[in-house]
Amino acid sequence: MANLRSRTIPVSTYEYVLHHLDEAAKKIKLDPNLLRIIKEPRKITMVKLPIQMDDGTFQVFTGYRVQHSIVRGPGKGGIRYHPNVNLDEVKSLSAWMTWKCAVTGIPFGGAKGGVTCDPKKMSKGELERLTRRYTADMIDVIGPEKDIPAPDVNTNEQTMAWIMDTYCMHTRNYTSSVVTGKPVVLGGSRGRHDATGNGVGISVREAARTLGIDLNNCTAAIQGFGNVGSIAAKSLVSMGVKIVAVSDVNGALENKKGIDIEALIAYTVKNKGSIVGFPGAKEYSSSKILGYKCDILIPAALENVITKKNAAQVKAKIVGEGANGPTTPDADAILYQNGITVIPDILCNAGGVTVSYFEWVQDRLGYFWSEEDVNHRLEEHMVRAFDDVYTVSKEFKCSLRLASYILAIKRVTDVLLLRGVYA
Ligand code: NAD
Repeated sequence: MANLRSRTIPVSTYEYVLHHLDEAAKKIKLDPNLLRIIKEPRKITMVKLPIQMDDGTFQVFTGYRVQHSIVRGPGKGGIRYHPNVNLDEVKSLSAWMTWKCAVTGIPFGGAKGGVTCDPKKMSKGELERLTRRYTADMIDVIGPEKDIPAPDVNTNEQTMAWIMDTYCMHTRNYTSSVVTGKPVVLGGSRGRHDATGNGVGISVREAARTLGIDLNNCTAAIQGFGNVGSIAAKSLVSMGVKIVAVSDVNGALENKKGIDIEALIAYTVKNKGSIVGFPGAKEYSSSKILGYKCDILIPAALENVITKKNAAQVKAKIVGEGANGPTTPDADAILYQNGITVIPDILCNAGGVTVSYFEWVQDRLGYFWSEEDVNHRLEEHMVRAFDDVYTVSKEFKCSLRLASYILAIKRVTDVLLLRGVYA
């Protein structure tokens, strides 16, 4: 930690990833040769994408696909469209996918993609051309047995439909299993939309069980009220939790008696996604949401929001990381010292990739499951993953985060040793 703390320039997110990896490797005395291998992404592809804009001009966008690991199965991970997309971010997200799939026991490696662009300023036609060109340029990289993309920030079911169509046109096959997160009519899975949020709810419930906390007496604050935050809130309410504070990019709300989450979701649908102005709660300060006095805190918006500057203000007993990478390593150490149970992202938000795995399985079977069936299997997977991590945390007397990394590293390196290193 000292080397991260003493820096005056911001450290890269990938250094945070490596920090957790190093800590876990030290704990299990991992062979340094193996550590050296798993630290590096196996393949980085960068493409320049010339796209004709609606005004007739050509803009050149930069696209990435990073396959961090294909040791345990084909690469798996979303594609992000955002002005801040850069190689460091895509590398970090791809590594998290490796550890996430390993922790949950899903037979995938880790990958991620992204295009540096501002989709909010692009028309549907421009986005379609960008997506198809990206897919065409990545045609040798992706595939159901190679690397399976999915939606991430600013990409959605429509983006996946375009990728699938472009891939099928090039390969002259109907291959729905090339992407997950598709519309159900194109081979998407029922239950995928709610899977990440439901998985967060299940993880929090399991953590509360191990701590002897009754969820019926608990309150929660949620940062971010998009897909993950809103569904996690709904899932927690179904378990008896009272949601007392919520924030999004536009503002924050509080209601000590409990916010009606169904009504808030319905309100955001009519209010361009924003929670601001919801009549069932008072306005609150967004910047104070992470320190809200409650039992459960769900950061479900952005990376690096719980830092060494605000970690000491966190009052919750359980932090369930809905977002990827919301806690910096410095902050993580503070939360651990303060006796707060943090359910790490690679476990807590793995419900999404779990149902993506189910989607890939269903596409390959050509047989589709009911929503109840999907949810039942998700529950089984999440509970087993939590139990596995919890057992490791007891064995090594460490945080759930360190235990998740230990478990993930062991699962990846066990397979690596069996397969051998082809040199
Ligand atoms: P989303 O775009 O649906 O929602 C993001 C929410 O965060 C929005 O409500 C937005 O207003 C809010 N937000 C943005 N900036 C904020 C800020 N500064 N303060 C408070 N709120 C802010 O995205 P999502 O799919 O819910 O993803 C959220 C996080 O979860 C991301 O880190 C994503 O990588 C991660 N994640 C998502 C999935 C999934 O299946 N959707 C799976 C795993 C991890």
